[in-house]
Amino acid sequence: ARGAAHRYRIALIPGDGIGREVIPPATAVLDAVGRRHGVTFAYDGFDWSCERYAAEGSMMPADGLDRIRRHDAILLGAVGWQGVPDHVSLWQLLIPIRREFAQYVNLRPITVFEGVPGPLRAARPGDTDGGVDLVVVRENSEGEYSEVGGRFGRGTAGELALQEAVFTRAGVSRIADYAFDLATRRRGHVTSATKSNGIVHTMPFWDEVVASRAEAFPGVRWRSEHIDALAAKVVLDPSSFDVIVASNLMGDILSDLAAAVAGSIGIAPSGNLNPEREYPSMFEPVHGSAPDIAGKGVANPLGAIWSAGLMLTHLGHPEAGDEVLAAIRDTVRSGKTLTRDLGGTAGTDELTRAVLERLS
Ligand code: ATP
Ligand code: MG
Repeated sequence: ARGAAHRYRIALIPGDGIGREVIPPATAVLDAVGRRHGVTFAYDGFDWSCERYAAEGSMMPADGLDRIRRHDAILLGAVGWQGVPDHVSLWQLLIPIRREFAQYVNLRPITVFEGVPGPLRAARPGDTDGGVDLVVVRENSEGEYSEVGGRFGRGTAGELALQEAVFTRAGVSRIADYAFDLATRRRGHVTSATKSNGIVHTMPFWDEVVASRAEAFPGVRWRSEHIDALAAKVVLDPSSFDVIVASNLMGDILSDLAAAVAGSIGIAPSGNLNPEREYPSMFEPVHGSAPDIAGKGVANPLGAIWSAGLMLTHLGHPEAGDEVLAAIRDTVRSGKTLTRDLGGTAGTDELTRAVLERLS
């Protein structure tokens, strides 16, 4: 019924700082592209933020998760502010949402757009468009980020800290399946990040499970690469990748690295997905609340807009999602209305209008 209705209820969590400035551009784009595809959106706004934490002592109300459980998707700006420790927004908001709604895939597409002065361009001046178009599929629910372990013998000479990584057959299987399936809709290639030469229990298990899932996708080519060599290759030869599947920690590092390679963090989008669509998935730009530019109207809205595009694809409207990406690509290529992080002088509104013009 959800796909057929073509009317979606979206929970908006603008959050803090520039999070509040980039969400209105994203909903404006959703409305514009929705009109072309017979899709409408009803938005419910939630003031969950560090500002709320400072005033009321919690990022969200006690029944917060129940209030958004039946929405079709969640669009988040950014949470984080000076004076509020990062672990508060993480453990009181982002992690509860990811866990409660089984968002076990963290999706981070990375494209080098013509017109964006990325760091590699500077190093290779002749390289006008590297053809970089890759997706990092990060396992979002288990692995290295576990609470198993502890500190022992505090303050003694024999003090030690122990942290267990937890990988399950079910957890590795489902992230591998997602990556292989995604590759069938892209260029048909998966790179699996490993470190089985140094990490002798969990990584060989990861490799084994990935290899067994690969058998179900005979049309997809895949290879396994050690994370150290893989990271170097993301810098030296990013266009050789299609889909990269990685554990929680490795995927976290790789997706920031690859986003930096692509240019501005202001463009990078992400999705925290529950692929079965049993629960709402959450879409958010990769950037944070950026207190240094907040309130000035100069934030780049493209990361939030692209995240909204990922949301359209996830809801079953990939053509609409592709249109959003094409509008971003055209706007950046034209080079006229770019924000400061992209080397221009335009404000958030001006760049948003330029994208909207391409969609109307
Ligand atoms: P958080 O802890 O919330 O992740 P952070 O300080 O680690 O925040 P960002 O808030 O992403 O990281 O900011 C990093 C730098 O990038 C800042 O200088 C910021 O101004 C810049 N920046 C981030 N997002 C944007 C954007 N959308 N447009 C322009 N500049 C941005
Ligand atoms: Mg940060």
